[in-house]
Amino acid sequence: MPPKAKVFAVLLAAGSGTRMGQNKIELSFGGKTPLRLSYEAFQNSGNPPERTVIAVSDAVRPQAEALAAAEENVFVVSGGATRGASVYNALSFLKETGVKDGIAAIHDAARCLVTGAVIDAAVAGAALHGSGIAAIPVRDTVRDGAGNDLPRDTLRLMQTPQAFDFGLIYSAYCEAKEKGLNATDDCAVFRAAGHAPCFTEGSIMNQKLTYPEDIPFFRAVLEKTAPCIGYGEDTHVLQEGRKLILGGVDIPYEKGLLGHSDADVLCHALTDAILGAAALGDIGRHFPDTDERYRGISSLLLLKEAWALAAQKGFAFGNADVTVVAQRPKLAPHMETMRGNIAAALGVALERVSIKATTSEKMNDEGAGKCITARAVAMLLH
Ligand code: MG
Repeated sequence: MPPKAKVFAVLLAAGSGTRMGQNKIELSFGGKTPLRLSYEAFQNSGNPPERTVIAVSDAVRPQAEALAAAEENVFVVSGGATRGASVYNALSFLKETGVKDGIAAIHDAARCLVTGAVIDAAVAGAALHGSGIAAIPVRDTVRDGAGNDLPRDTLRLMQTPQAFDFGLIYSAYCEAKEKGLNATDDCAVFRAAGHAPCFTEGSIMNQKLTYPEDIPFFRAVLEKTAPCIGYGEDTHVLQEGRKLILGGVDIPYEKGLLGHSDADVLCHALTDAILGAAALGDIGRHFPDTDERYRGISSLLLLKEAWALAAQKGFAFGNADVTVVAQRPKLAPHMETMRGNIAAALGVALERVSIKATTSEKMNDEGAGKCITARAVAMLLH
């Protein structure tokens, strides 16, 4: 990076959005609009702008004014009938409010996946060479409508930001206005004024939100989920005169598990794993064994309730894996029914739930048939 440059960001949010069929700038990704995301990208770049000027349509004005009210050094101007007219209005506002030099970085707010690196490269280009225009090479073979090959190696796809020496781009836009030049980007205006453009490294990720089909791509990039792991473990004593309930299945056996609820140790371990993944405490906190409401209750209901608490916090279900440690009885014949019960209680696909059983090779209290233990991991996504 050259020495710190004085940057003025121009964010364009005055398009009609006709190709999107709705006002794309009102869309929200992870709770943030494209305008907000673009604003933040500049704030997080190596040269946070001294001022940000947003050129808006009437539809976007309230959103832009809210941003200007919440943040410092953000100004809103009316866009024009064309992209060029909007840029001209923004640059004129800067000129009229005393800007004489520095760098104007012009950016389509709909390119809200822009990174600090792409912005920094454009600004550095402008500082060193008078212009820095984010561009990328063409990956695909290109032909015209008649089938003639176009020389791909010489072609570049233009993105934004397009950053320029303020004085040069302002006078280029004044000239373009005088001549009635209508260009689709700033580079064309700059060239028409006789300047050679300098291209800087754009990014394949720096796409422009244009068509409804683009939305899933933007969602996938901007609404990334983080996996959250939880672990749960529980042991219950085996005793005569109790039912043996595991994974909601009443398993014929001479003994059953002792507990306040139905003592379904498998469900308890999994419930704790889910609560753990969501950092919501443990099963005892939510379903205390002093509470008469839970006496003899099916632990599938506790599992269902725990998952509802996590889901309320915004978690999505990833998967769960439970191992039951029991010397006897054999659990294999009941495994699929247990999985089905758990998946149904959680409202997830069967493939998301794994249940396994093992013995402890006759060692420990599980091996002696005194108790059954279950250990579970759950992955939630947030
Ligand atoms: Mg328990």
